[in-house]
This record gives sequence, structure tokens and C-alpha cells, in this order.
Amino acid sequence: MENLISLSPSRKVNDPADPAGRKNSAEIAASAAQAAETGPAVANAVIVGSGPAGYTAAIYLGRAGYSPIVLAGALSPGGQLVNTTEIENFPGFPDGIAGPELMDNMRKQAERFGAQVINDDVVSADLRGGIKSLQTDNNGIFRSRTVIVTTGSDYRKLEVLGEKEYSGKGVSYCATCDGYFFRGKPIAVIGGGDTAMSDALFLSRFGLSVTVIHRRGTFRASRILVDRAEQDPNITFVLDSTVSKINGDGTSAQSVNVHDLKNGTDTVLPANGIFIAIGHTPRTGFLSGQLDLDDGGYIRTSGATAQTSLSGVFAAGDVVDSVYRQAISAAGMGSRAALDAQGYLENIGMTGGLRPAV
Ligand SMILES: Cc1cc2nc3c(=O)[nH]c(=O)nc-3n(C[C@H](O)[C@H](O)[C@H](O)COP(=O)(O)OP(=O)(O)OC[C@H]3O[C@@H](n4cnc5c(N)ncnc54)[C@H](O)[C@@H]3O)c2cc1C
Repeated sequence: MENLISLSPSRKVNDPADPAGRKNSAEIAASAAQAAETGPAVANAVIVGSGPAGYTAAIYLGRAGYSPIVLAGALSPGGQLVNTTEIENFPGFPDGIAGPELMDNMRKQAERFGAQVINDDVVSADLRGGIKSLQTDNNGIFRSRTVIVTTGSDYRKLEVLGEKEYSGKGVSYCATCDGYFFRGKPIAVIGGGDTAMSDALFLSRFGLSVTVIHRRGTFRASRILVDRAEQDPNITFVLDSTVSKINGDGTSAQSVNVHDLKNGTDTVLPANGIFIAIGHTPRTGFLSGQLDLDDGGYIRTSGATAQTSLSGVFAAGDVVDSVYRQAISAAGMGSRAALDAQGYLENIGMTGGLRPAV
């Protein structure tokens, strides 16, 4: 990875600190320190990811005058909420707000305070040492004193017919987010871990019925959750069975095909809400093992801070959080990561200049 740092400036390289040829007071103040460093210009903060965690971190660091760069991802800038319709539990919107609108607002708010948002993927990184390097797919290399990783996590998919077609039309990966939409309807929960069991218990208050479908005869979930679910008269279990197809009427999901692994029979179970709870995969591939991860692959942070195992590298949002996974909790962690990065920058003598809002 060392070649990333010593890359010749003649190669295609963004100048994150001065993309438009203009400098603000913070950048001028920083330029003296930068002069001592060789190679392409060095930003104070690069944020990888543009979900609620990334944009919130950008708003904070922008307001503190650090002119952050947001490498927003090429395929889904704005993160997971861009693929949802109504968000009803993000504070400040009494009538709810569409996911894409909420994320567009966050991007605009970050840009208003000087964040530069670039829709590109980071494909590899060298995060060791005082100056970190990030190789992007289409915009060359970015160098920065701090990096905040907010790349979220992927919901594991069932990979069955109908799953994609009815995603957001009955198929959901987030009970807390979508349970309310299935009041009085039959619901299926697929999975056998803690998330599946917690989802079933949560959904039981809304659904006409909740059926937990699990491919094994026993659960990975903790005993207390299984006991609670078994005692809930609204929850039933279909074990040793898989879902082979999700059926609908073109507008919304109506049922699932259930395959019994023991006797080989197939049945159709009515379900309008189909909650898939078979795990998440945090997006950390581009880190190539440089940060400590927990057993589930989530980035480890220190206590209540966003500090990772590497100095100057912080992490926030779903890539850290295996439990809450909500927009507001990701945004809260984004603010903590920004304040931690700010403290780090101040400690190394990089004070942000005031950047007036435009
Ligand atoms: C269908 C659905 C509905 C939901 N509804 C709600 C709801 O109603 N309320 C609620 O609070 N929560 C909801 N959630 C959960 C919420 O979306 C997440 O908790 C939240 O988006 C996590 O924010 P984040 O910033 O950590 O990551 P994400 O939103 O996942 O954003 C990650 C970002 O990282 C980028 N990225 C990934 N890899 C790279 C890379 N290598 N280089 C550059 N960029 C990269 C992606 O492009 C993306 O922009 C829902 C989730 C889903 C899937």
C-alpha cells in the first residue's frame, strides 16, 4: 500500500483541500502545515459513506471549518434510506418524510457548510500513519489526516424469487422501521437468531399473526427471547423449513412458499409483511483487515467514542452498530465521530477556521 502515499502528483489525483482553486481561511491556515508534507494535497477529514452517519459527520466538521470530503459511494449515495419511501421515526418531521428527500436535505446541509461530496467508491485504503490514503474507483487518490468510516452494512438476502420485486412492497429487512405498516395483517419472520426473535416479538403487537420460519429445528437466539416468543399466543413457528418464493399481486406481497426440509412438502403461507432477519454484512472490504473488527465483522470502537484501533481513524453508523441500526442512531454516532476527529485534529495543531454558511 505504500505506493499509494508516494504516488506521483502527475497522476490523476484530486486536490481535496482546494478542488476549485479557491482557499478559505481554514485551508490557508492549514497550508503551512501541509507545506511540510510531500505529495498530493492533504485534507483534514475524509468521510467514507453518505448515509445519516456520514452526512452528519460532514455537517459537524464543515461547521467547524475543516472542509471535509465525503466519498459518497457510486451506486447509492445517500445510503439505505434512499431506497425507502416514508420515514416516520426521524425526529423533526411530524408528518414523516420520504427517505430520498431526507438524505437530499442532509447532503445539502453538509454542502452548505463546505463539505465536498463526491459520488465514488473507495476501493482500497492505507490508514496507517499520520497521513492516510484512499484509492477511489474514478477520482484517484485522496490523502487525509483523519478518516471517518460510515459505510453501513448490507442486509443478507434470501435470494429467492419475488424478494427483489416485493422489496419495499411487503418484503422488509427492518421490523422497527416497517412493522407499523402491517397492522392487522399476517406477517412472516424469517430467521432463527436474536434479531428474528426480537422482530417477531415486536411485530406481534401489530400483526394479525406472526409466523417465524427457520431452516433449523433449534434457534441460535438467546433462550430468554425464544421463551418469550413461545409464550406469545400471536407467534407460531415453522421449523426445519425454508422460504422458496415470495408471491404477490404485482403491487404487494401476499404469501410465501414454504419448503419443509424434513418431508420435502411445499405449502403456501399467507403473509403481507415478510421480514427477513438472517443477518447483516458490514461493508469493510476496502479496509483489508487494517481495523479491528468484532466477531460479526463490525468495526470495533473504543467505549462511547468513535475511535477505531488506528489513530486518526473513526467509525460510525451501521458499520459499527450490530444492535440499533437506525437512521437517528447512525446520525448520533456520526456527530460523535466528527467531534472525536475534531479533537484529534486540534491535538495535532490543525484548528479549523470558521466557514460562514452560504
Ligand atoms: C428498507 C429500509 C428501511 C429503513 N427504514 C428506516 C426507518 O424508517 N427509520 C430508521 O431510523 N431507519 C431505517 N432504516 C435503517 C437505516 O436506513 C440505517 O440504519 C441507516 O441508513 C444507517 O446509516 P449509515 O450512515 O450507517 O449507513 P448507510 O445508510 O448504509 O450508508 C452507507 C453509505 O456508505 C456508502 N459506501 C459503502 N461502501 C462504500 C465504499 N467502499 N466507498 C464509498 N462509499 C461507500 C454507501 O454508498 C452509502 O452511502 C431502514 C433501512 C432499510 C434497508
